[in-house]
Amino acid sequence: MNCRYCNNLKLSKILDLGYSPPSNAYLVAADLSRDEQLIPLRVLVCDKCWLVQIEDYTLPDELFNAEYAYLSSTSSSWVKHAKEYCEKITQELNLNIESMVVEIASNDGYLLTNFLERKIPCYGVEPTASTAKISKTKGINVIEEFFGSVLAENLAKQKKNADLIIANNVYAHVPDINDFTKGLSKLLKPSGVVTLEFPHLLNLLKFNQFDTIYHEHYSYLSLYTVSNIFESHGLRVWSVEEIDTHGGSLRVYGCLKDAPWELKSSVQLVLDKEAQYGLRKLSTYCHLQPAADKVRLELNNFLVQQRDNGKKVVAFGAAAKGNTLLNFSKIDSSLVQYVCDNAVSKQGKYLPGSHIPIVDPIKIKNDNPDYILIFAWNIKDEIKDNISLISNNTKFKYVSFIPNMVIDD
Ligand SMILES: [Zn+2]
Repeated sequence: MNCRYCNNLKLSKILDLGYSPPSNAYLVAADLSRDEQLIPLRVLVCDKCWLVQIEDYTLPDELFNAEYAYLSSTSSSWVKHAKEYCEKITQELNLNIESMVVEIASNDGYLLTNFLERKIPCYGVEPTASTAKISKTKGINVIEEFFGSVLAENLAKQKKNADLIIANNVYAHVPDINDFTKGLSKLLKPSGVVTLEFPHLLNLLKFNQFDTIYHEHYSYLSLYTVSNIFESHGLRVWSVEEIDTHGGSLRVYGCLKDAPWELKSSVQLVLDKEAQYGLRKLSTYCHLQPAADKVRLELNNFLVQQRDNGKKVVAFGAAAKGNTLLNFSKIDSSLVQYVCDNAVSKQGKYLPGSHIPIVDPIKIKNDNPDYILIFAWNIKDEIKDNISLISNNTKFKYVSFIPNMVIDD
C-alpha cells in the first residue's frame, strides 16, 4: 500500500490489533450464529511524511449504516465545547450577518445552531441522512454529500464560499485526505479561515490511547504532517491550540497561503514539542505494541479474577473505543455481562466481535453490579454523573484501562 498522503511505498507496521469487525457493525440476535466479517486492524507509519495511518482494507457497506449514527448533541460536554468554540471564533474572526460559516460533518446541527442564534449565515455538509434530517428541523441548511474537491468547486460556483470552515473530528476520518484538503482551499474566501480539530498523535503515543484506533479512523495526525498536507494544497497553518477533547486534541487554524493571518508562536511551540518527543523517528513508535499488549493482559487478568470471585462486571458505552479494546483483548459476555448505552437504536443488539448484549442503562439500577467498566475514559466524569442519576447505589466501583488500570468509587 502507498502512503495516503505522499504516495511513499515504504510504510512500517507499528501496531497490530488483530482482526476485528467494523466498530459500528452492531448485530441482532439472528446474526450471532452467522460468520462476521473480520478485517485486519493494523497501523502503519510513513517514514517520509510521518503520517500514521490504518492499513488499507475493503470497505463493507454496513460501515455506513445510518441507523447507528452517533448524535453529537447526546454528549453534554461536547455541546458545551461547541458553544464555547463558537463564541470565541465569532469574536476572533469578527463574524457577522454578512459572513458565511460552513461546517463539514455537521451531524445533527449541535454546533451550527450557535451561529443561527447569532443570525450568522451558515450551512452544513453532512452525508448521513438521519442526522442531516435532524439539523433541518432546527432550521439549518444541509448539503447531504461527502465533502471533497468536486463538491467544494460546485459550492464556490454558487457563491457559497466560506469566511470560516469548521471541520471537527472529520479530518482523521476521511480516506482521501488530499482531495479533502484540496476542497478546503477551493471553498475558502481569500481571507477565510479553516479550523480543524483532531486527536493529537502525540497523546496517542504518550498515553497509550490505542483504543482510539478503528477502521473508520484512517489517519492519526501530528501538526507537522498536517502543516505539510496544507502546504501542498495552497494552504498554511497560522495558529494552533492544544485542547482536552478526546484525550487531547489539536485545533489547527489554517488559511490560504496569501491570506493576511499572522503566524502565531503556538505553531512553532507545538512543532518543537512533537520533534522533541520524536514523532519523526521510527523508534518512537516501537513502544505502542508492548503497551497495548500490557493493557490486554491487565484487562483479562482483572476480568477473570472478578468472575472467579463471583463478582459481576458490566460496561457502559457501546462505542468504537470499547469495541477496539474488547476485540483486541478477546473478551466476550462470559467476562462482561452486558454493556449499557443510552442510544435506543443500539439497545437489544450486540457488540460486533465480542457479542456482548447492549441494554438500557436502567438495568444497572436493578442489577447492582460490582464493577462498571468505562470505555470512554475521556468523558469518565460525565458518565459517572449519568450513572448516578440512574442509581444511587454507592457499592459499585468504576474501572478503566487506558492508559493504565484505574479503579475508583
Ligand atoms: Zn507519506
